[in-house]
Amino acid sequence: MPRPIEAVIHTEALAHNLRRARAHAPDARVWAVVKANAYGHGIERAYPGLLGADGFALLDLDEAQRIRALGWRGPVLLLEGCFDARDLELCSRLTLWHTVHREAQIDWLAAHKTQQPHQVFLKLNSGMNRLGFTPAAYRSAWLRLSGLTQVEGITLMTHFADADADTGEAGVPRGIDRQLAVFEAATRDLSGDRTLCNSAATLRYAPHDDAVRADWVRPGIALYGSAPDFPARGIADWDLQPTMTLRSELIATQDLQPGDTVGYGSRYTADRPMRIGIVACGYADGYPRSAPTGTPVLVDGVRTVLVGRVSMDMVTVDLAPVPKARIGSEVTLWGCGPAGTVLPIDEVARAAGTVGYELMCALALRVPTHPQ
Ligand SMILES: *Cc1c(COP(=O)(O)O)cnc(C)c1O
Repeated sequence: MPRPIEAVIHTEALAHNLRRARAHAPDARVWAVVKANAYGHGIERAYPGLLGADGFALLDLDEAQRIRALGWRGPVLLLEGCFDARDLELCSRLTLWHTVHREAQIDWLAAHKTQQPHQVFLKLNSGMNRLGFTPAAYRSAWLRLSGLTQVEGITLMTHFADADADTGEAGVPRGIDRQLAVFEAATRDLSGDRTLCNSAATLRYAPHDDAVRADWVRPGIALYGSAPDFPARGIADWDLQPTMTLRSELIATQDLQPGDTVGYGSRYTADRPMRIGIVACGYADGYPRSAPTGTPVLVDGVRTVLVGRVSMDMVTVDLAPVPKARIGSEVTLWGCGPAGTVLPIDEVARAAGTVGYELMCALALRVPTHPQ
């Protein structure tokens, strides 16, 4: 028998979450962001659930090829654009739309020979200071692109740093306001579609703000069943469903006396007689080593906590709330447990001092993963 750990990708939940994102921006087109191998879900496994999208956005060229190999003939957008002039050949061959965020990418386009002109997304650095032209340089970049026979259409694009940040109280400025004002000023007299929203902005602002919603939204994390503004709101508040379940089983139990310790570093000491369960899942499976005693976990669908340090192949859990637990009991590290129980990935991430994004992206290759 194989080691009992597995990950399940919930196809119907992906489709549900995509519908939820779309419901917040019904008249916009939706990019399903599938970078980082569909946030660790696997592009091929996530694809059937996300077929209702208007396009797929990602950044690795090999992932773009994989989307085309799956038969997707609609839009595919490279969110970081080309890394080299030669990448444009692949863009022409596979009809990939691409971001333009710096001058050299325009030089490459100007020198590129193509039968079919390209759709480009011109990125404005509205304040996040990662990618994009400054407001002062944006207009001349747009004019340059407009003059190229290699370019068929220009979509105006920016990305928010703080769409998840404010409290949402009346009178408190929104986390997006400063960047939105910069975007509006820099694009006022430029023609072209517009795209601004990640998941947080799509869920929180797109429904009641036309300028934010614009022509395309770009949700990623919300599609994968993680609330972008956790802990202010959780997936239940946004009516999102887990799309990845990481589950395993108890492979041993131990009875402890007061004073007994657990695991490496003897970091946990029993203060009472207690029974603990040993789970076949550790940091080599992608479970965060930083998860401390107290991190939530489900055993047979009952909520309990980790005790002691996460090791490479095992974690240890308190069985006090689950007296009937025995070797072979189902353990849900995150996602969907038995009988409709749910442990949102956001809760585990928060306990470990990180975000759902990192946990799902870190799911290890050694974990057998199947769609359901
Ligand atoms: C990753 C990414 C997104 C999606 O962000 P989420 O927070 O996962 O919704 C949108 N736009 C760009 C440019 C991105 O890089």
